[in-house]
Amino acid sequence: MTSTLFTNLRIIDGSGAAPYTGDVLVQGNRISRVTHGTRMAPIAGATVIDAAGATLMPGMVEAHTHFAWNNAATLDQIQVMPLEEHMLWTAGVAKTYLEHGWTSCVGAATAKPRLDVVVRNAINEGLIPGPRYLAASQEITVQGSLGDDMLPHLPYPEFSFGQVVSGPEEMRRCVRMFLKFGVDSIKLNLSGDNLVPHADAKTTWMSDEEVAMAVRETKLRGKRVSVHARSCDSIKQALRHGCEVIYHASFTDEETLDMLEQQKDKIFVAPGLSVLIRLLYDGAEWGIPRRRAEELGYDEELEAAEKSLRAMVKRGVRVLPGGDYGFAWARHGENAKDLGYLVKYAGMTPMEAIVAATKQGGEIMMRRDELGQVKEGFLADILLVDGDPLADLSILADQSKLLAIMKDGVFVKEPTLRQARPTRWSLPAA
Ligand SMILES: [Zn+2]
Repeated sequence: MTSTLFTNLRIIDGSGAAPYTGDVLVQGNRISRVTHGTRMAPIAGATVIDAAGATLMPGMVEAHTHFAWNNAATLDQIQVMPLEEHMLWTAGVAKTYLEHGWTSCVGAATAKPRLDVVVRNAINEGLIPGPRYLAASQEITVQGSLGDDMLPHLPYPEFSFGQVVSGPEEMRRCVRMFLKFGVDSIKLNLSGDNLVPHADAKTTWMSDEEVAMAVRETKLRGKRVSVHARSCDSIKQALRHGCEVIYHASFTDEETLDMLEQQKDKIFVAPGLSVLIRLLYDGAEWGIPRRRAEELGYDEELEAAEKSLRAMVKRGVRVLPGGDYGFAWARHGENAKDLGYLVKYAGMTPMEAIVAATKQGGEIMMRRDELGQVKEGFLADILLVDGDPLADLSILADQSKLLAIMKDGVFVKEPTLRQARPTRWSLPAA
């Protein structure tokens, strides 16, 4: 069993407690000891990392990833990628997330039926590097809504962005297909989206009968339903039917907020603010000038989302970072910008944003007792950060500030500072 002793640390443990100085011992794939304020005695055979006061924190959890999105500016450009290239691309993106400090990710939807499942299995088998991963289905949608982008004269459903169903029986068949493939969650597009002007973010498309069928079939296998829900009605629909993961949740009213609060221990909200913010402020670069973004409703939605999220955070609803990176305007790897967005738009403190990315991340990964905190007995998913994320969250989005990344007790990125700064704990030079 390998052992690594991190000394001379400033520890943000992910629980929300104030940072403290201390040492952390990793043995095998678990954190076996954490000291507060005191130095740990040298451990025989342990590799010693003197962090020289750097911050040690839990690896981050991305609550809303799309590994299969290929940094394109349109949904069509994602979908026309041939399967073989797409599989390799998806695997490459998994590695990108890990190398940016995301040691766990929740898949929110994939672009072809089995991309997510195959990547998750390959990670778990040690075939490719990647974070701990929960694999998603494709987006399941209905005719005319987000994800049904097939042109009327081209009847090739497999080239549509989502799986298009009509009625409960087609829903049942589709959900069962993804469950057979081994997904961890089924994704339903309940609302429209401003990317689809004829089915904008305030519209709600899926019928209650279809949602009920999807939830029933999914829960039969003990899996989870996540939803694309921007409109007020779609959020209520998700909550009525027991969907656990709500993506976006932009438009709310008092009744919706009450419902969210009533279910706050069961549900997670991951707003994925990057699309709204980046298209509104930087969209010109991608052919969507500010005026066009406003016509599409992005200023209205961002304003509504800000109001909704601030209310949710005040009511104790778990709002998690991450979301919808993998477009031209918000590329894979930039995801940690979301922590700053949660402070600016959802009214969190920097510590609350870090707790959302770590402790609550462990909760959305369904491993609250062993993931997302620097705590004895927890899995050794760890970041060593050059600087103080509480003073400046943007350093978490800067790969060069991540001195070390450890997943499951193994370095993904090994620190170089032990050699650079020898201490009395270091082994004598050979
Ligand atoms: Zn998404």
